[in-house]
Amino acid sequence: SSTPPLLELDGISARYGKAVALDGVSLRVQAGEVVSVLGANGAGKTTMTRIITGLLPVASGTVRISGEDVSRLGPHERVRRGVACCPEGRQIFGELTVQENLLLGGYTTDKAARLTRADELCTLFPILGQRRAQPAGTLSGGQQQLLAMARALMSDPTLLILDEASLGLSPVAIDTVYEAIAGVRQAGLSILLIEQNAHRSLAVADHAYVLDRGRITYEGPAHHLDDVDRLSAAYFGAG
Ligand code: ATP
Repeated sequence: SSTPPLLELDGISARYGKAVALDGVSLRVQAGEVVSVLGANGAGKTTMTRIITGLLPVASGTVRISGEDVSRLGPHERVRRGVACCPEGRQIFGELTVQENLLLGGYTTDKAARLTRADELCTLFPILGQRRAQPAGTLSGGQQQLLAMARALMSDPTLLILDEASLGLSPVAIDTVYEAIAGVRQAGLSILLIEQNAHRSLAVADHAYVLDRGRITYEGPAHHLDDVDRLSAAYFGAG
């Protein structure tokens, strides 16, 4: 049979107490794909990220990484299997240098391997290489997002999840972030973009999902949604 998807959510439900945050969500990311998940505030995007990374247990359904059921595995075990997440809000340590922030990423304790990986990421994101010895707090918002992405890439994942990568950034900074996303894809990784910024995210994505109040209301080619009428129909349930 064919290669299993890198990531698969199969009939996922998630709850906070009695409140249902995800209700029967299924989603796939195939190797080499950029997939966009769109949704308004409260749609369930953060919950989906927590379910994928293993920070929140599933109420029902299955999470698979490359065909393996990881539903009962912790966050660390999922990173080991090639899925890394760049969290919403970036969570950069402003007092620490760019290099120190990078070295906090990944899961290996092998110092030499970490330094080598940090070097590679400073080549992939040259601006970080130039600012390596500076406190991360002196970076612009866009540069801090690149640092957060690079830190997630320290584990050398096959799939990078970007949770609200462009939130709170200026248009110029968003350009920087999306250039970096293109670079990550060029390097052969798959990307799951969980974003409110539909326009930018759809422009790079192959496939898109719209999440509305915990359910998938659209699944299909990303370019199909880069049409305001179709997008609003998917968002507001008219289509
Ligand atoms: P936002 O962009 O505002 O973060 P989101 O799409 O990420 O929204 P979630 O944060 O996943 O949405 O929330 C989905 C639903 O679950 C919402 O109705 C929210 O109120 C609810 N919810 C989220 N976290 C909790 C929690 N800790 N306890 C109770 N309900 C929660």
